[in-house]
Amino acid sequence: EVRVRFAPSPTGPLHIGGVRTALYNYLFAKKMGGKMILRIEDTDQNRFVPGAEDYIIEALNWCGITLDESPVTGGPYAPYRQSERKPMYMQYALQLVESGHAYYAFDTAEELDEMRERLKAAKVATPQYNAITRATMKNSLTLPEDEVKRRLESGDPYVIRLKVPRKEEVRLKDMIRGWVMVHSSAIDDKVLMKSDGMPTYHLANIVDDHLMEITHVIRGEEWLPSAPLHVLLYRYLGWEDTMPEFAHLPLLLKPDGNGKLSKRDGDKLGFPVFPLRWTDPFSGELSSGYREAGYLPEAFVNFLAFLGWNPGTQQEIFSLQELAQEFSVERIGKSGTRFDIQKARWFNEQYLRAKPDAELATYLLAALEEHQITCTPEKAEKIAGLMKERVSFPQDFWQEAAYFFVAPTEYSEKVASKKWNVQAVEVFQDFKNEIPALADFNADAVKELLLQILERRGMKIGQVMQALRLAATGAEAGPDLMQIIEVIGKEETISRIETAIA
Ligand code: GLU
Repeated sequence: EVRVRFAPSPTGPLHIGGVRTALYNYLFAKKMGGKMILRIEDTDQNRFVPGAEDYIIEALNWCGITLDESPVTGGPYAPYRQSERKPMYMQYALQLVESGHAYYAFDTAEELDEMRERLKAAKVATPQYNAITRATMKNSLTLPEDEVKRRLESGDPYVIRLKVPRKEEVRLKDMIRGWVMVHSSAIDDKVLMKSDGMPTYHLANIVDDHLMEITHVIRGEEWLPSAPLHVLLYRYLGWEDTMPEFAHLPLLLKPDGNGKLSKRDGDKLGFPVFPLRWTDPFSGELSSGYREAGYLPEAFVNFLAFLGWNPGTQQEIFSLQELAQEFSVERIGKSGTRFDIQKARWFNEQYLRAKPDAELATYLLAALEEHQITCTPEKAEKIAGLMKERVSFPQDFWQEAAYFFVAPTEYSEKVASKKWNVQAVEVFQDFKNEIPALADFNADAVKELLLQILERRGMKIGQVMQALRLAATGAEAGPDLMQIIEVIGKEETISRIETAIA
């Protein structure tokens, strides 16, 4: 059975790249009929941010990403928070010490600093605690056995480090990138157990993926450099046979393609980088979210799916279920994907337009209620139907359709100066005088009347339309004007024209 996990560290809100990772894991699990697991990787107490876990779960919920096992729902491999699994990790670190693949290290922060300085002075580009330098440090490979024993017994602070071999080619097969080869000299002796008894990310991640029987690790490209180290851990723990397959997702790039998309780009360029609004509990800083900006979750998820994957056809609109059916790791690109907020907006427009008018009307009715304007559901539905081709977000219905309810008080100079002339005003005069005689006040009848007036005066409809729109709505553009006039109604139309020509 396929089992995948999304394993965020609760260090802040999920950034769009993190949600994409969660989504791809979810789609892969659904496609394969497997399980999707949420594991909270909170072993780094210094970076723990209160509220982050709840935020992550709420964000996944909003996207429609359901979890088969999680800290909230529980599951057969509980607990799903690493801080609650703390007692499980030490035995594996000790197993590695016993088998000679890890060792105790007693170096103080000052001693480590000294080593780095020494290496820098010797022009070593990346100072490492490794096969060469470990020989000069205080650890169980250099200290006499009885001193090691004494230090451990007296409670001296220590860490456990992985003993990375000096010359070895570490290979792993990535589902997206193919074979990845790294020389072990590029890997340092990573700390597995910290002096506070907490495992580091590397140890906890491998132990948990193994114990939770994870079959595929789908995560961001930033973890690719750690993957060879993870392979060594699987090997030394004797778990290489059941090692999960890896898929490292391509980076999300800034809109201009120059570098990795960062949290700051959103604020700078004016688009959300988080799925939901987030208030930093320490600084009080507020960041905008897609949900609050008016993105529909279906549109957001559809957009996200295309940031790195494509179905290989022209089809772009996919429900979450359809995405799960179509999804395949083979169709994930190797190179970075440019982030394009215009595309996100386009998806939102498509999803809005596909909704029934009655549903769209509820957005308008909610805004009207806020502005204490009454409106029948039928009228709201008609307006929603007229406006839906012109909106990108639910809140636009009110912004774009306010003139149905509020008479204009200002008219665009640009249109007025060109189209608002004596002839037009004479047409308006006739128009508002003859409206009361109309038996049925509807779009067709209004148009018929206008055409008659124009014919009498030897004019064409193009000569007055823009000015009439301005008089009736105050706007320069919009849907069919006759339809608008029908909705505005007889009395209100007359009154607006009177005001306009007064
Ligand atoms: N805790 C890591 C993160 O925050 C998990 C990386 C992984 O999936 O292995 O992304």
